[in-house]
Amino acid sequence: MQSTKSQTSNVQIQDPPNSQMANKEPEIITDKTQMRKWSRGMRSQGKTIGFVPTMGFLHEGHIALVKEARNHADLVVVSIYVNPGQFSPSEDLSTYPSDINGDIQKLMAVPGGVDVVFHPHNLYDYGTTNPSVENVNGSGGDEERNVGVVSCLENNGLGHETWVKVERLEKGMCGKSRPVFFRGVATVVTKLFNIVDPDVALFGKKDYQQLRIIQRMVRDLDFAIKIIGSEIVRESDGLAMSSRNVHLSPEEREQALSISRSLSRARIAAEKGQINCRELKESVIKAIEEAGGRVDYAEIVDQESLVAVEEIKSPVVFCVAAWFGKVRLIDNMEIDM
Ligand code: AMP
Repeated sequence: MQSTKSQTSNVQIQDPPNSQMANKEPEIITDKTQMRKWSRGMRSQGKTIGFVPTMGFLHEGHIALVKEARNHADLVVVSIYVNPGQFSPSEDLSTYPSDINGDIQKLMAVPGGVDVVFHPHNLYDYGTTNPSVENVNGSGGDEERNVGVVSCLENNGLGHETWVKVERLEKGMCGKSRPVFFRGVATVVTKLFNIVDPDVALFGKKDYQQLRIIQRMVRDLDFAIKIIGSEIVRESDGLAMSSRNVHLSPEEREQALSISRSLSRARIAAEKGQINCRELKESVIKAIEEAGGRVDYAEIVDQESLVAVEEIKSPVVFCVAAWFGKVRLIDNMEIDM
């Protein structure tokens, strides 16, 4: 057992299974005041910061973003924070998987390593305690407050009431079945951008609507941060990597392959001239339902505006969300015409 270098961490990191693979230990920062101090210090030395926000339980999709961040900045910060503000009370916040030690070991194996893992206990003030002036200014400790609160939506929103909404882009697709999801995402990303103060931030195309929402938010609100979208990383059989895949039974996992397989077939069909979106969507929905899934949505939308199209005549993305048992998966494929 070996502890981290950081005085700000209470996370104990185990040695990686193969110490040959380890590059460097990231500094673990759990307090937002410390995180800001680190970033300001590095920026005053002229260093650029690349940032990868995650909810942890890292897989190769996340690691690809971290590797890409190394190509764009001197230093890399990865945040690991399961954001309660994007889960409605009926959603899977309490069962969202986590493995902080495993995550840190994976990050230590990335060539060049990671400089900081920002792992706050809580980024919200829910009003469950009497907020002091220090808390409001963010200079109080984050850690001892608000333990045990399940969702930001609890307590009638007392304590936290400011939300970032990207009005049109957040409405369709995932926004329909998860009405508070994107305001939670945009808000926490804003908070993280304010705390970490990066030059560049990386997001996966796996969450395509999220990527477009963050790009629009950054443009509309003048964040001086370059947003880079990274390609989807898939398992060898085509399943898009996701932290939620761990909850799939072997049977559900097999069924879930119907998403990527039917999307691939649709893309090939489109490239061969089948450009009618209704027919393409019907074929994907049929394939997923026949496999045993329940489709939440299947939409073919413009890559930039995310407006649905009837025929494929310009670059589009085919986005799907479907349930397999209790697990909701999303996936998409770009079709460039
Ligand atoms: P999450 O931990 O699910 O919030 O994801 C953190 C970041 O990793 C987001 O920008 C996701 O889009 C990205 N990501 C998740 N899965 C993948 C994947 N399979 N391929 C590429 N990026 C991904």
